[in-house]
Amino acid sequence: MSLNLVQAWKGARARLEAAGLSGPVIDARLLVEAAADATRVDIVTDPHRALTPEQEARLEDYLSRRERREPVSHILGRKGFWKIMLGVTKDVLTPRPDTETVVEYALRDFPEHAAWSVLDLGVGSGAILLALLAERPAAKGLGVDVSEEALAVARDNAAALDLAGRVALLRGDWTAGLDGDRFDLVVSNPPYIASHVIETLEPEVRDHEPRLALEGGADGLDHYRVLAPEILRVLKPGGRFAVEIGYDQKDAVEALFKEAGAVFVQTIRDLGDRDRVVAGEKKTLETAG
Ligand code: GLN
Repeated sequence: MSLNLVQAWKGARARLEAAGLSGPVIDARLLVEAAADATRVDIVTDPHRALTPEQEARLEDYLSRRERREPVSHILGRKGFWKIMLGVTKDVLTPRPDTETVVEYALRDFPEHAAWSVLDLGVGSGAILLALLAERPAAKGLGVDVSEEALAVARDNAAALDLAGRVALLRGDWTAGLDGDRFDLVVSNPPYIASHVIETLEPEVRDHEPRLALEGGADGLDHYRVLAPEILRVLKPGGRFAVEIGYDQKDAVEALFKEAGAVFVQTIRDLGDRDRVVAGEKKTLETAG
């Protein structure tokens, strides 16, 4: 006897609850929709539609992988972020809602038709850069990453979103290859987890996401030490920056940027009310004195 949509959904939910996952209801819905080629509406309006044997087999594969703590984003190969859908592989950090705080803040003072140049350091899947370019039709962007595999993911995402014409992608170690270029806005979500904390993370992150995108050295701050002066170097006078931080890194990261000469340095909180983004500006030529 074959399963129908509502039975599949209830069964998936029960299995993922029993596996002790933190978001079993949403995960079950996403996996059933993808396995059964169904939309969210179908489960409500067509609950008795039977799954084909292929769809049932696919659902079984998805659920057993999720029970082994593979992230939904890896099973489906995609993840929604801000207003865009991004392809995701094991070579990039899965875009997280926390990071939307960077996008939201960067857009706040970014005039709609400004032809700003945006630099995303550690571009990964392209989440921040592509979300910004999708919102600002005259802007252009450069994404840098040390991982060739990540750049391939960002390149596919830019093409799928019809943004390839406004995005350049460059393999590099942070700003190392950027000599004459100067930017209006620099954004980054660098690796900031302290090395000793990595082993305590959820298995979805610890066992499936790239260490390269997570680990920030003994105190988690290694990359900001390099980035703060370098971001100030590659900004135009009066240019802005916004970088993601760990919830307990506000004071240390603010201090690094102030030391590097940034002005109007401030920290923005995420939707969970945790410190999440340090932002500021490079002095204008007039204030540079
Ligand atoms: N926020 C991510 C996590 O806690 C880490 C992201 C990062 O290191 N940039 O899993």
